[in-house]
Parts: sequence; C-alpha cells; structure tokens
Amino acid sequence: MRTARVVVVGSANADVVVDVDHRPADGETVLGSDAVVSPGGKGANQAVAAGRLGGHVAFVGCVGDDAHGRMLRTSISEAGVDVSALRTVQAPTGTAIILITPDGENSIVVAPGANRLVDETMIDQVTWAAGDVLVVQLEIPLPTVEHAVRRARRADVRVVVNAAPAALLPAPVLEAADPLVVNESEAALLVSGSTAPSTQVPVPGPASDTVRRLLELGPRSVVLTLGAQGAVLGRRDPAGAVVLTHVEAREVTAIDTTGAGDAFVGALALGLAEDAPLDGAVVRATDVAACAVGRRGAQDSYPTSDELSAMTR
Ligand code: ATP
Repeated sequence: MRTARVVVVGSANADVVVDVDHRPADGETVLGSDAVVSPGGKGANQAVAAGRLGGHVAFVGCVGDDAHGRMLRTSISEAGVDVSALRTVQAPTGTAIILITPDGENSIVVAPGANRLVDETMIDQVTWAAGDVLVVQLEIPLPTVEHAVRRARRADVRVVVNAAPAALLPAPVLEAADPLVVNESEAALLVSGSTAPSTQVPVPGPASDTVRRLLELGPRSVVLTLGAQGAVLGRRDPAGAVVLTHVEAREVTAIDTTGAGDAFVGALALGLAEDAPLDGAVVRATDVAACAVGRRGAQDSYPTSDELSAMTR
C-alpha cells in the first residue's frame, strides 16, 4: 500500500492577537489587551491540521532566523510534519497582526516577511510521487504557487487550491484544482471577476448557484465552505452534469473560529491522500473544523485522530 503524503506549500506566520474595544479610525491610537503570540499562517495551519491527524505531511515554506521562526518550526514539527523543506532565511518571519473586537469580528494585517522568499527553487527540490496531494494557498508569491501546481500536475499529483486570501487566479491554477476550496467572500471575488477589495464585492446568491458559477471557471471540483452552515461540494458526473452535495456542519458551541478554514483544508487534503472520495473527505473535514471552532486558538485547537474519534463517536 502506498504511503499517503500531503505536501503543503505555503505561509507560516506568527499571529499577534490583540483584543480592542473598537478598530482605530484614521489617525487614532487605541489601547488594547496584552498581545498573545501564537503560531499561524494558512500553510502552516493546514500542515499542522493534517499532521495532528496522523498524516504523512511535508511543509515547504520559509521563516526568519528569529524567535517567531523558532516557535513555528517547533509547532509544525511537533505536529509530526516533515520540516526538512522549511527554510530559515534572511528576512523576518511573517507576522499577522489580528485585532479582535467585542463582537468577535477580526481585522487582520499580514506582513509577509520570509513568506515572500518561498520560491520556485524550493519547489524544484520536492520529489513528487503519484498519489501525493499538493495543497496551496495565496499567502506566498503567486509565481511560486503556479510553479508548484505545474510541477505537481506533471507528476500526476492531485492539487487542492485554497484561494485564500481572496484573489483572482490564473486559468492553469484554477483548472488544476481538485477541489478549489473557498469561503463565501473568496467565492464572491472569483465569480465577480472583480479586482476590487473583497469587502466591496457583493455576496452572490444561493450557495448552489455560486458553486455552479465556480465550476464554470474550470476547476475539476469545488468546495464552498459556509461557516456554521457547513459546506457545498460540486463536481461533474461523467456525462458532464453538475452534481451538488451539501454537508452540514457538526453542531458545536463556537468558542473561536480562528483557523477553522485551515483545519478544514488540511483535513480534506489528508482524506484525499488516503483515497477517500471527495464527499467523505468533506464530512471528515467538517468534523475536524468543528473541533477547531470549539476550542481556543488556531493550531492549538486542532484535534489529533484520537480526539476526533472521541468527538465523533
Ligand atoms: P476562518 O477564516 O474562520 O478560518 P473560513 O472563513 O475560511 O474560516 P468558514 O466557512 O467560516 O471558513 O469555516 C470553514 C468550516 O469550518 C465550515 O465549512 C464548517 O465546517 C466549520 N465551521 C465554521 N464555523 C462553524 C461553526 N460555528 N460551527 C460548526 N462548524 C463551523
């Protein structure tokens, strides 16, 4: 039996979280809570989510030679993820400054730092095997994402594209996606084709219409995540007809949704690497994401496979 492997190419950030009464207006200074620093970044989160579930996972990314970089290296490797392609570079580790207001909403500024240095040469050092699954998101340079997707497809490796943060994607990346995974605001931007900031793009109609429109952009399959409403997946049957499936979210008291989307993507990719059908992988991803929502933090909230089985029993 082959060993399933998930290769995550992406970002690693230190999340610096501060609670505030309100967001600062232009020119205003706001006093906040003490800052809490924890490991994050979409790529690192997704790798940790799959690693904690016991998957065979490798992470390709960059951190700086600083305390945040060491924190991330420790956190990713403690999840059982292969960090031999995690490079330490001459740039500060990426940082996400996260302001949380009392309504639970957040505003985030990402300073990419070392993530800007994840380049094509790092991709060229990856040895691909048929059956691997590549996972990419958009917090590293787009040419690197494109190169990774090209290399993976050439090796017949399945590609999971998480179009986050929201951005338009070149056709070859979209067409390789199996699935394309997006939340509602990322979907809105993609179907509108607009380059306006995502907050200015109107949310499209019913989820099923959105998934159909996303499929028209060329991906092999689509997973649209809907927060507490779960996810809708869409693909075409052999005759080319669109097949839609709604997977309900598991009911949970939401404590902290930070990193829920990344837990979902990491678990989904692992399911696919283990040969689960797409709908089965989505069901497990919703279970893993619910667990992440029910606990504080991003990576710290991700379940091990034992914790997941206890929860879903
Ligand atoms: P985030 O930015 O918070 O990490 P996201 O916006 O990328 O998440 P969402 O669609 O909000 O993605 O959530 C991803 C998945 O997490 C959902 O499909 C669902 O399975 C799970 N989830 C999110 N919120 C809840 C909730 N309140 N209850 C149960 N499951 C949830």
